[in-house]
Amino acid sequence: MIAVVTFRAKNTFIASLRWTENWSARILEDKLFLSATRTVNGTGQELRDAIDKGRYSICGHVDMAMVSALHPSTLSTGLFVPCRDAIESCNRCLTDYTTTAEQRFINIKDGKLNLTRACWLITVTSYHRLGSGRSPLDVKWHALATRGIRDLRTTPRDMIRYPQGTVREVWKEGEKA
Ligand SMILES: [Zn+2]
Repeated sequence: MIAVVTFRAKNTFIASLRWTENWSARILEDKLFLSATRTVNGTGQELRDAIDKGRYSICGHVDMAMVSALHPSTLSTGLFVPCRDAIESCNRCLTDYTTTAEQRFINIKDGKLNLTRACWLITVTSYHRLGSGRSPLDVKWHALATRGIRDLRTTPRDMIRYPQGTVREVWKEGEKA
């Protein structure tokens, strides 16, 4: 039987933006996996400022300022470009993550005026493979738990054995079981 453990949602307020995290844990292929879904919404400029300052982390090596899907090309005129489940991965630890950026319009009242405000909802779901989960010396656990850039014991992710998307695929297969 495959069990999933879901933790209580955690809210962090940075400036006026609420960053919500929902974590789950599973044992898959006899290894410990974690997944976190993070959401934040606000106006394009509010989010651009918060993201570019790298205030939100995905793992010890990647923060939101490093997520390619949240940085439109120089040809784009908007602050964000809509995307759905754009997949990327950390090249230090066994973390894959998908990004969805959706533009929404909400109605607000300003005195007697009804205004429409454009907002963005950004969702980043990460998937982490931590090895057996039985030893802090396990290299997979160690890679996620430490900031690999400063840690000489951490080896970079083996991208041939664990190419981008493979951690997520195992989690998604576990969801079907
Ligand atoms: Zn990482």
